[in-house]
Amino acid sequence: MPDTFVTGAQGFGRVIDVDLRSASGSAKERFDRLIYAAPVEAAPKFRDYGLTESANIMSLTELESRLKTGEPMGAERSHRLHAAFLCGLEGGLEPAVFRRALDAIEALQDSGNVQCYVFTRHLKVAASGLERRYRELRERGTLFFKFDGPGPVFEANGARAIITFNDPLLEIELELQPDILVVDEHLKPPASLGLLAELIPSSPAFAPFLQPESTRFCGVETPRPQILAVGPSRGVFDPELMEADVEAAVLAVKKLSSQKANLPGPALVDPNKCAMCLTCVRLCPHGAMGFHKRAEADPDSCMRCGICAVECPMAAISLSPQSGRRDISQTISETANLTTSGPRIVAFLCSRSAGQALDVAWPTPPDNLTPIILPCAGTVGVEHVLSAFQHGASGVMVAGCFKGNCASVYGTSLAEERTRQVSAMLTEIGVNPSKALFTPIAANMPWALREAVQALERAIGAES
Ligand code: SF4
Ligand code: SF4
Repeated sequence: MPDTFVTGAQGFGRVIDVDLRSASGSAKERFDRLIYAAPVEAAPKFRDYGLTESANIMSLTELESRLKTGEPMGAERSHRLHAAFLCGLEGGLEPAVFRRALDAIEALQDSGNVQCYVFTRHLKVAASGLERRYRELRERGTLFFKFDGPGPVFEANGARAIITFNDPLLEIELELQPDILVVDEHLKPPASLGLLAELIPSSPAFAPFLQPESTRFCGVETPRPQILAVGPSRGVFDPELMEADVEAAVLAVKKLSSQKANLPGPALVDPNKCAMCLTCVRLCPHGAMGFHKRAEADPDSCMRCGICAVECPMAAISLSPQSGRRDISQTISETANLTTSGPRIVAFLCSRSAGQALDVAWPTPPDNLTPIILPCAGTVGVEHVLSAFQHGASGVMVAGCFKGNCASVYGTSLAEERTRQVSAMLTEIGVNPSKALFTPIAANMPWALREAVQALERAIGAES
C-alpha cells in the first residue's frame, strides 16, 4: 500500500487493526500479519553546524534536486566550481547518506570543471561498494579532509560560507570559500512508527524503531511475531538492503502462516481469579496478551515466556505443562528431595543462555548444584527464589541473558531486579545478601557459570 500512512493502531496477537490515510481517503483495515516499510525522513544538519540555508548553502536533498533539473549551482560558471560537502562532521554518518553524497560528487565531476572537497570524521564505508567508490573519487581529484579533533569553523559571508580549518595532514591553517556548501542529513523513521510501536508493549526499550538491536531478532522479526519491520522501521536506512529485507519479510510471513495454529500450552487466565488489572497486557513483551471482556493470550502469539504469570498479582495465569513449561514452584518442591549432605545451590537458568552454558560447564552438574532450566529468567519471581531457600537451598542463582540480548526484551532485567529485592530481604534478616545472586551468562560462557557457582560457594562458606 504505497503512499499510505498509519494514523492509529490497536489489537493484540493476530488481530492488528490499523487506521490508514492515503490520497483516496481514510480507512480502517484488519490484518493478521503486517509488514511495515516506513518511509525515511531526512533532516538536514544546518543547526548542528551552525549554518543557515541559502542559495549557496544547501542540503544534500536540495543538491540532488538541482542536479536532476539542471538548475544552476549558485555561482557563475565562468570559473571552476568549488563544492564542499559536510559528511558526518556532526551526528554520525549513515552509509546511505554517504552513498548519496558520493553519487552527487560523481555527477558534479562528470559535469566538468568542478573541484569537490569532503569534510568528515569517520567515514562509514562498510556498506557494499562504498570503499571502492570513495577511492575512485579520491583518485579523480576529490579532496577528503578527515578530522579527529576540532573540526572546521564556519562563518557566513552573504549567502556563502567561509570554512576555516587546520589541515589534518599538513597541519597548516587553511581557508576555503566554496561556491556551494552541501550539508549532510540525519535519517529518521516517520513519527507514525510510534503508533505501530504501541502494538508491541516492550517497544519503549528500543524506541523509536520496531526491532531491538539484538541477535535474538533475526532479519525483520520484531518481538511481536505478526509484525515485521523492513528497512527504516527496524533502523536500517540503506536502500540497497531493502530488497533483502522484503524477501526476509515474505519468507517470515510464509513461515508464520505454515505454523500450526493453536499450539498447546499458551498462557491461560483463570477468569475466576482475574481482577482485570491489565498488568499482563502491559507487560507481555510480545503483544500476545489482550483484553476482550477479560484478559486472554492469543495462542499463536504467546511465546510461553511466563513473564505474565509471574507478574499477575492474583496468580491467575498459568502455563500448561503441554507447553513444555513446568510449574516452577512444583519443580522446586520436587528437586528439594535431592538434597545432598552439604550446602546446596539452586540455579534458575534461562534455556537460551545459561542453560546451554551448563551443558558445557559440566557434563553432569555437581552434587551440590540443582539447576532449574526455564524459558526466560524473567519467569523467576521473588517467591520462587524465597521458595528455593525455604526448601533448603543455601544459595540461589538466577542467570539470564545479557541485557539487550533477551528474547523477551526485558525478562533478564526483571530477573535482576527481583533477585536484588531478595538480597535486600536477606540483609534485613541478617543473612549475607550475596547468597542470592543474579548474573548474565551467555551460552558460550561456561566458565562464567562455574565462577558464579564458586562465588555462591564462597558466600555460603563465609556465612557458615
Ligand atoms: S495480570 Fe492477572 S489479574 Fe491482571 S488482568 Fe492479567 S490475568 Fe487479570
Ligand atoms: S507467556 Fe509471555 S508471551 Fe505468553 S502471554 Fe504471557 S507474557 Fe505474553
